[in-house]
This record gives sequence, structure tokens and C-alpha cells, in this order.
Amino acid sequence: MDLRYISKENNQGISVKIKDIVIGNGDFTIIAGPCSVESSEMILSTAQHVKSKGAAILRGGAFKPRTSPYAFQGLKEEGLDMLKAASQNENIPVVSEVMDPRDVAVIYDYVDMFQIGSRNMQNFSLLKEVGRTDKPILLKRGMAATIEDFLMAAEYIAAEGNDRIVLCERGIRTFENITRNTLDLAAVPILKKLSKLPVIVDPSHGTGIRELVLPMSLAALAVGADGVIVEVHPDPACALSDAEQSLSFEQFETFAEKINRLKHYFEDMRKGSY
Ligand code: PEP
Ligand code: MN
Repeated sequence: MDLRYISKENNQGISVKIKDIVIGNGDFTIIAGPCSVESSEMILSTAQHVKSKGAAILRGGAFKPRTSPYAFQGLKEEGLDMLKAASQNENIPVVSEVMDPRDVAVIYDYVDMFQIGSRNMQNFSLLKEVGRTDKPILLKRGMAATIEDFLMAAEYIAAEGNDRIVLCERGIRTFENITRNTLDLAAVPILKKLSKLPVIVDPSHGTGIRELVLPMSLAALAVGADGVIVEVHPDPACALSDAEQSLSFEQFETFAEKINRLKHYFEDMRKGSY
């Protein structure tokens, strides 16, 4: 595999800084928030809640890649405005998805980290465009991408000059259909072995089932992931996207409490010293 910018030098991983938050320095980072920003009140209350319970970064989609063109597509710039206000109010950095190279310059002013979604993992012009910015990138694994495809996508970004990339395992399509995707947790240690980049796990999209978010996050912790990204909504039953996989505030509180109580046991796994 021809990795020139994201390979491991001297067996050392790198950490990625998102404002004052560091992913990949041995800590286990929780990124949390709704699938989509739906209103200023909902993103503000979610920001308050997740930050107070231990999330380091707020997520919230404003440009949504929906399977159906008739499904809710996100609030676009209006949603980014709400996300930024919540970020400033709670003093928490934010990550949001960019789907189109033409939107990179606009979204740049609103977010602290760009998310490249699963459906765009091999949108090479988008990868190159974000690679020319100075913002950290959350790169999600394509739903039919091999580990090599995934690393090569990260290489596209890094080759443009930006190696502040966090890889995210979010499940792949298999014959199994009780779960939304099959969360490939073996990806975590192999990605960390092959590249210098930090790796996080998305158990929300990885399973599509809220009851599985905590168990799969504990598994992610045990295999050495540098963090998780989870969907949280003030009223999951009424969420405009990904309702079934979103945690309520109460569920997130239990979730964060369990993770934070156990995370220090797995520091060696995160550092790859096993
Ligand atoms: C999301 O994070 O809301 C999302 C659409 O994720 P993915 O690209 O992994 O499907
Ligand atoms: Mn979602």
C-alpha cells in the first residue's frame, strides 16, 4: 500500500487538535449530538446536556446526505448558524458534514472540524478540497470500502497538505440486515497499525439501534479506539433523521458515566502497547 503521508513513522501515532480538544493523545474522546440540527432550541439544549455530561465535541448535520431526495435534507446554512451559536454558548467545538466541494468555503466559517460522510469517502474532488484547508477532518469509512480504500481516501486528503485527519469506522454493508450496518471493530487496531492517524467508532450508524450504542462503544474502548461519535436527541421519537439510533438525554448520561468510569483501563490499548 503506497502510503506517503499517513504512514507510521517510528511506530508513532499522531494526535489531532480540534480547538483545545485533542484526539489521539491517549484519552477517549466522546463526540455527541443530533444527526441533524433541527432548531436553535434543540441544538442548544443538546449542546448543554452533552457537554455537561462529558462530551468534548458537538456534532450536528446541516447538509444531510439522505437516501431519498424527498427526506429532510437538513437546514443548510441556517442550521450551521444554529450550530455555531450553540458552540459559542457552550464553549464546545463542533463537527458537521460537507458534501460538496462548492460548500467547503461556506461551511469553513461555521465548523471546527469537517466531516466527510460515508457516501462521499471516495469523492476525490471533495477530499482534495478539504485537504487544501487547515481544518481537521473526520473521515468516515465508506459503507463498501475496504481498509485499503479507506486509507487511500485519507491519503488523498493528506497529499494536499492536511494530515489532521481522524478516521471513523461506522459499519459496512453485509448480508446482515437486523442491524443497519455491520460494525467492523477489527478495523480499529488494523487502521492504527497501518497508519499514524487516530481512529474513532460510530456505533450509532454502525448498528442503527440505540440499545447497541453503549455495548458497541464499550467494545470500541476495548479494541483501542480513540473515541466515539454518538447521536443524541432531546426527543428521539420525533427526530427528523435517524430516530431509532439516537440516545435520549437520560440514556446519554448513563452512557457517558459508564464510558468515563471504564476508559482508563484501556489506555494501553489506545497506545497500541499490547
Ligand atoms: C451522519 O453522521 O449523520 C452520517 C450521515 O453518517 P454516515 O456518513 O456514516 O452515514
Ligand atoms: Mn445520522
